[in-house]
Amino acid sequence: MNILNVPGSEPSSPICSAKGCRADAVWVLAWNNPKLHTPERRKTWLACEEHREHLSQFLGVRGFLKDVVKLEDWEEPAP
Ligand SMILES: [Zn+2]
Repeated sequence: MNILNVPGSEPSSPICSAKGCRADAVWVLAWNNPKLHTPERRKTWLACEEHREHLSQFLGVRGFLKDVVKLEDWEEPAP
């Protein structure tokens, strides 16, 4: 999946995961690829207002998208 930023040093404030975007993240997209992950597992992408729909659709058409949550409301699921 090459629509994402190349992983680099961790920024001090979370930024959008969309490729080339440097906007502050506002949304957390929680997703799961059943071919790779156990059902409870959640991968997360971050999205700004502009890219939330784009990234949600990318995951949604593949059936991966589980949840879209405001960053301020997001809590990592308990292990
Ligand atoms: Zn963005």
